[in-house]
Amino acid sequence: MKQTGPNPLLLAAVLALAPMLAQAEQPAQKQPPRLVLQITVDALRGDLPRRFAHVLGDGGFRYLMDKGVDYSNAHYQHANTETIVGHVSLATGSVPAAHGMVANVWFDRELGRMTYNIEDADYRLLTAGADVDQKTEIDPTQKAAKVDGRSPAAILSSTFSDELAVHYGGRSKIFGVSVKDRGAVSLAGHAGKAFWFSKSSGEFVTSNYYYDQYPEWVKSFNAEKPAQRYAGKSWELSHAPSDYLFGDADDRDYETDFPGFGRTFPHAFGAGDDKYFTTRLTLSPAGDELTLDFAKALLENERLGQDEIPDYLAISFSSTDYVGHIFGASSLEAEDNIARLDRTLADLFAYVDQRVGLDNTLIVLSADHGQPEVPGHLHERGIADAHYFDTDALDKTPAIAALKKRFGIGEELIQTYSQPYLYLNYDVIRAKDLDQAEVEVAVAEELLKFDGVAAAVSSTALRTGGLPDTLLMRSILRNFHPKRSGDIYLVFEPYVFINDFDGLTVASTHGSPWRYDTYVPVMFAGAGLEAQKVSREIAPYDIAPTLAAVLGVKPPSAAIGNPLPEVVGD
Ligand SMILES: [Zn+2]
Repeated sequence: MKQTGPNPLLLAAVLALAPMLAQAEQPAQKQPPRLVLQITVDALRGDLPRRFAHVLGDGGFRYLMDKGVDYSNAHYQHANTETIVGHVSLATGSVPAAHGMVANVWFDRELGRMTYNIEDADYRLLTAGADVDQKTEIDPTQKAAKVDGRSPAAILSSTFSDELAVHYGGRSKIFGVSVKDRGAVSLAGHAGKAFWFSKSSGEFVTSNYYYDQYPEWVKSFNAEKPAQRYAGKSWELSHAPSDYLFGDADDRDYETDFPGFGRTFPHAFGAGDDKYFTTRLTLSPAGDELTLDFAKALLENERLGQDEIPDYLAISFSSTDYVGHIFGASSLEAEDNIARLDRTLADLFAYVDQRVGLDNTLIVLSADHGQPEVPGHLHERGIADAHYFDTDALDKTPAIAALKKRFGIGEELIQTYSQPYLYLNYDVIRAKDLDQAEVEVAVAEELLKFDGVAAAVSSTALRTGGLPDTLLMRSILRNFHPKRSGDIYLVFEPYVFINDFDGLTVASTHGSPWRYDTYVPVMFAGAGLEAQKVSREIAPYDIAPTLAAVLGVKPPSAAIGNPLPEVVGD
């Protein structure tokens, strides 16, 4: 576009007036940012960017930490620190008791089966065959989906993105992007549009909740087969081994030896047509790089941040979560993953600066949950108590057997366990004409006797009150939704967790109410914010109300958080 220079005469006149104008200066009406960029790093525990600061470069995490408002003490206050729960809490500024996402999967009593949080038979994927491949899917959560449709219908309260859409009468452009479908759908809300990576097709896909057909630019993006550029390549270290804290600790027997990927660098992605090729990409920084490429294409083609109406782009980077599950938070892989994520963020911020300007962009980065340490790593440090818990055996233990005898039950009393809930077999309880509440309480009491169980709380107790007023009980109550929660909420002791998912044994599993899982970074930057370190405890529920306050939009319908004064201004 051709720019006309300022009229020299007018400029001289304005300059002459400048001292007078300065005297009469009023606080300028602050323009809302043209773009809100909400970044979620799946499973980025709050300490990790600082812990691995020695492998960070300029312009990525350092831009946020050195130039932005950096909250170093942010914790979730709900008990089940899983992915959909955290993402929807970020989106809505609320807790699962209100937004309804109590777990990644829950047992739907009407359907009589486990159900995946955003599955929706009414809204099918636009790409045939892009659905979860049951034969190769290693994410047990993803595997629980029984239909190939996806939508945000199960999110029960409004998101910040919804409120933005309403406020501007639909003129804001709103998008969510992630490798994980639930990482994209959650933040796009009910009013935005979501794209995610299909491991089956190696493409970014969506459902007909959002579009009847793909925009041309998405077709072009996918036609170039972006995942294939990793074919035959490997994830290699980005620094010299001596630069890392874990440079001499690559090979650890507690790391997961994923087929063809191995426990040590370099981690080969395999041939482009290998059945686990795309899965291996998601277990490495490549998943985040692909997400970045798609986000850049979206920013350009949808012309985000190009006019006065604020737009919204949510990007959820999933690799940190998968790397944590497979290798643990204290591994050379975790360390290099942060180094590479840092380069991905720097690339993104430079791109946004060039297209929109960082002064016109409000950036917020957080995580959906933290992550634990791997017991094997703790054992090496002399911390012996950490261990795994076998829930498969629960129904067969002598204590539960005695309980069944007491109630005269022969069949399986425990229908299923799916983190964090135990579901009782209602058919058995009904057939024997037993009192549901009595059975719940009796089972919960027995579970509490197990080594490694910190709490077993029946839903009847949550419904009727009378629980001790402890932080743990409050966090379980914040997770309780009467239509979705299971019958008994099971909390393991710190560093005790299940690690066997349908045969794949992983190194670590998040999802507890303990500090390592609730701890996340919260960093705001851009849009004229000045650098500030804040050590006061905040909760990630504050993010959506903060974005709403900055934009002058009403808070999401069930928001419990408060606008952060360091970002909004007093
Ligand atoms: Zn997650």
